[in-house]
Amino acid sequence: MREIRHFVNGSAFEGASGRFGDVFNPNTGEVQARVQLATEGELDMAVQAAAAALPAWAATNPQRRARVMFEFKRLVEAHMNELAETLSSEHGKVIADSKGDIQRGLEVIEFACGIPHVLKGEYTEGAGPGIDVYSMRQPLGVVAGITPFNFPAMIPMWMFGVAIAVGNTFILKPSEKDPTVPVRLAELFMEAGANLGIDLKGVLNVVHGDKTAVDAILQHPEIKAVSFVGSSDIAHYVYSQGTLHNKRVQAMGGAKNHGVVLPDADLDQVVKDLSGAAFGSAGERCMALPVVVPVGKKVADELRDRMVAEIETLKVGVSTDPEAQYGPVVSAAHRAKIADYIQIGRDEGAELVVDGRDFRLQGYEKGFFIGPSFFDGVKPGMKTYHEEIFGPVLQMVRAESFEEAVELPSKHQYGNGVAIFTRNGRAAREFAQRVNVGMVGINVPIPVPVAYHTFGGWKRSAFGDTNQHGMEGLKFWTKVKTVTARWPEGEVGDSSFVIPTMK
Ligand code: NAD
Repeated sequence: MREIRHFVNGSAFEGASGRFGDVFNPNTGEVQARVQLATEGELDMAVQAAAAALPAWAATNPQRRARVMFEFKRLVEAHMNELAETLSSEHGKVIADSKGDIQRGLEVIEFACGIPHVLKGEYTEGAGPGIDVYSMRQPLGVVAGITPFNFPAMIPMWMFGVAIAVGNTFILKPSEKDPTVPVRLAELFMEAGANLGIDLKGVLNVVHGDKTAVDAILQHPEIKAVSFVGSSDIAHYVYSQGTLHNKRVQAMGGAKNHGVVLPDADLDQVVKDLSGAAFGSAGERCMALPVVVPVGKKVADELRDRMVAEIETLKVGVSTDPEAQYGPVVSAAHRAKIADYIQIGRDEGAELVVDGRDFRLQGYEKGFFIGPSFFDGVKPGMKTYHEEIFGPVLQMVRAESFEEAVELPSKHQYGNGVAIFTRNGRAAREFAQRVNVGMVGINVPIPVPVAYHTFGGWKRSAFGDTNQHGMEGLKFWTKVKTVTARWPEGEVGDSSFVIPTMK
């Protein structure tokens, strides 16, 4: 059985906890590897390595740090196929989507290639007589990222791309469900340094684990900041425990994104967009669109008919099948949870128009496949509307008015993303302005902002006040120092017992 080890101080590190997590191949349902789960002591060894690497890395000039990012990008691109195949075999998303996962992470690395420019400070000459004021952003020190299973390449790169480029050293605790790609990224990062003659040992470390490793991160006095992405209850736990231990924390949580369809929308396009956004990656995306809100009976009825027809064309297959639109979900337990939600939805009175639970893929009967499901008549107050299902399930909630369509996503406990489909610019503008959600798409079903903007939801979709990547990421991973400098001329001045003010 292949064993996935930690990666500390530039090389594979043999843990001695004796505890392992199973890594499945979701296509076959077989255990394909086991991953070591760290002890508190093993996490501490990674922290020591990161702390030892910190002074040299923080003192490396920003251009050299950017060159590492350029070289890392080149290496990841050169290994794209290998990385995508590995990612797909552990996660279950199709190869093209696995490449998208890696590419969206690489776009943050591209942002990090420009770090010398964006890291420049501010300067005011002559803020007073002979007084200049300047501010600079300095790294925090040893920092950590804890990531979910659903984007094993993109989300680690969201975090370590910016954190390392600004001069921190990093500990990544990836999901124990698909841990191989994060380790490969760390290996390629070391290779990038070696190609440039820069020793990066300890700059990026990967420690696998479960709650034990997460708690060790949250309590370790040497770790200055923690970025987390995962489900909301754990995000809230990480936020409260991390801040309790005096760390800077950003913690992104779950989602239940709505797609509002106004009567004037281009329904041909909407059906295609909804299908991709609801069922792509088997619905295991925090920016999936699992709730559709048509406004008015006419558009709802028409959309329902078209959606059913569209679902019939979907191809679910093994993740290596180039024709498959989506593959299996990540685990048997997750598959069972989705099936349970479908039953609950039915029991609580929603109409199950398409039931994907009986889907079986011939030759892969033990794989974690589930067909697409579609509900009509879903209502606020239902458990299956309130909670995140995180599977290939689309729920239709009919709204009677624009007001109701603004209200539904605004009042939902999650506020990650939302989309509106319309040809009416004024309505779209008003919706974007009023809706109580962090990321909005206008005729864009999955409004994940580009890397030089910033990613983050509202309400129970994010705890903390800074987003991922872009300038918000830079802010999160650095602290500001402001210097007020006076070089007086002439005689010694008197003491002042009054707070200095600018006259
Ligand atoms: P998860 O919360 O189960 O796991 C996330 C991380 O937390 C993993 O590294 C895991 O090892 C760790 N963890 C799990 N249980 C823990 C516990 N009891 N104590 C401490 N740490 C624990 O999430 P997941 O299933 O891997 O990912 C799916 C979730 O992530 C969904 O809810 C999805 O919406 C969310 N997500 C959110 C965003 C976002 O940006 N808002 C992006 C991607 C995924």
